[in-house]
Amino acid sequence: MKVTAGLVREIDATGRLVLPSEMRHLCNIKPGDIIEFLIDGDKLILSKKEYGCLFCGGSAGLTMFRGRHVCQGCLAIAAAEVKGRTKGG
Ligand SMILES: [Zn+2]
Repeated sequence: MKVTAGLVREIDATGRLVLPSEMRHLCNIKPGDIIEFLIDGDKLILSKKEYGCLFCGGSAGLTMFRGRHVCQGCLAIAAAEVKGRTKGG
């Protein structure tokens, strides 16, 4: 779906661009969200990046572990499994 809202903004001297509030609202973009930049030919595409847990895909309680997103629940399960292996030998 291609939507043209006719909104234009100027990039400032340091390369910053403010996303118009109408676009943020339409795309459900909130402060703290991660935006991914993609290039398609001569077009620059901004995409809201949705992260999920590496193991379960959940988005609650995410933390970074060795460069990957993992939820607290899966971290606890992994820690318990590792602990069980080292206990019994
Ligand atoms: Zn998980």
